[in-house]
Amino acid sequence: MKIHLVNPSDSAFGTAVITPRWLFVLAAATPAEFGDPEICDETLQQLDPARIGAGDVVGIGIHTGNTLRGYEVGRIARERGAHVVFGGIHASLYPQEVLELGHAHTVVKGDGDLAWGQALHDIRRGVAREIYEGGRVDPEQFKAARWDLLPPNKYMWGSVQTVRGCAKHCSFCSVWRTDGQKPRQRSSDVVIEEAVALRRLGYRFIALADDNFYPVTLTDLKNAERQGNREKLSQLNAIRAERFELMARLAELPQDVTFFTQITMEAAEDTEFLDAMRRARIRGALVGIEAVTAEGLKSVYKDFNLVGESLIERLKVFQKHGVHVLGSFIFGLSTDRPDTFDATLELAHRSGLTFAQFVMLTPFAGTVDFEKWEKAFGQDIPQVEGKPITRYWLIPPDKRPKMFMPHPTMSSEEMRQRTQYVWDRFYSFAAVWKRSRCTPHLRSRLAFVFISKLYRQMYASTGIATDSARRSRANRWARWLAVPCRKLFHGAPMPALQVPPRHERERALAAAAGAFSVIP
Ligand code: SF4
Repeated sequence: MKIHLVNPSDSAFGTAVITPRWLFVLAAATPAEFGDPEICDETLQQLDPARIGAGDVVGIGIHTGNTLRGYEVGRIARERGAHVVFGGIHASLYPQEVLELGHAHTVVKGDGDLAWGQALHDIRRGVAREIYEGGRVDPEQFKAARWDLLPPNKYMWGSVQTVRGCAKHCSFCSVWRTDGQKPRQRSSDVVIEEAVALRRLGYRFIALADDNFYPVTLTDLKNAERQGNREKLSQLNAIRAERFELMARLAELPQDVTFFTQITMEAAEDTEFLDAMRRARIRGALVGIEAVTAEGLKSVYKDFNLVGESLIERLKVFQKHGVHVLGSFIFGLSTDRPDTFDATLELAHRSGLTFAQFVMLTPFAGTVDFEKWEKAFGQDIPQVEGKPITRYWLIPPDKRPKMFMPHPTMSSEEMRQRTQYVWDRFYSFAAVWKRSRCTPHLRSRLAFVFISKLYRQMYASTGIATDSARRSRANRWARWLAVPCRKLFHGAPMPALQVPPRHERERALAAAAGAFSVIP
């Protein structure tokens, strides 16, 4: 009984940017008696069905974007006589659909850290259930990824999770509903051990794959204090102190290790936090800017963000404190007008963003936006290829509409063209070369250009491009750029690297206590 873990994908680049962490976490969650699972990441290479034998177990993780390919993998695995288990966000949201269309025997909902092992035991004993409720496990029970199973020379960046959950409730995002609004933070010991394991293998760049790296804001602390809620204040203080402790310990890792994360814009108010990020060499962060107008922000429940000149000033604070920003914008909000596209491009240039992404508003399953969108159709749901548009992930990708939410004043094609224009302008060679001044040497400027172009091409291949010629050109470019980029990101392996000793931790704790001075 061999165990397989498959990350489904329609396109394989041979090289991928970030390690798909869930594969290596579930490998760790596989009880030792089942042996090491065989891992297949289809963003590298498609599954070879001959690897699957009768009586094997095939675990498939899906999100809305790769569901259809996941169902195809489920069919292949079941035909080979395997027991098929699905997990991931989409399987958690639509377990019945997965059982009916994904050829699944079993679905694991929620966190797989514990439930996956339970399901495997039951499958072996012939008493597997259809549904396992993984729930939200405590952070002490999160499994550390099995980085020893990483294939060599395939990924550019490692990924380590430090916290699950996000206290916000943005309407286009499902994270706060699936991972919860209470931050579940891992101890710095296990995070550091994983980062060291990755650096031993030669990974110099590590994504801190968190829902929100800044789980406690200054406003949260002030509110708790104003309410006289001592218990809450002490909980928030503890979370914040652990963040500082973690960052102080990251700073003790080899100097060539660089981190990247995602964070809310409120972190710019907290320059102590940004300075700790800089010392930890967390050199970049994805910041959800989403919209440049107050109406737009309100429409996505993100009115804690700023607009106009204050927004530009706030974004510049990150840069001043040594944290580069990948700004994320959404187009297609009902409040958008033709001039919103130019205004967004101008703001992206003026606020000193290092990278930017411009995504079309999409009703992702599990979000508030999705529920409103689905409800608005009533009984009259349009069909494409016999599938209701509200189950768009079941429509073949080449037939799938690129935009789902009709806009009150612009056609879908107009919005697509305007979005494409913004991408092309932000990533024009002249603009990228100008931004590359943020790095000191010619070699690193060239690396910056390569990476910017790779980012642009990878996005173009899977994102907004509609014509297939442009998509396949972008795919070819991405494949070609990916190899030199991977080499730029890697360093010589450090097999003898040790986890920083205990006394460093004590020092880090002291640094954390010093940095933590918000509440007197
Ligand atoms: S978009 Fe970001 S800030 Fe908003 S709920 Fe999702 S993770 Fe949290």
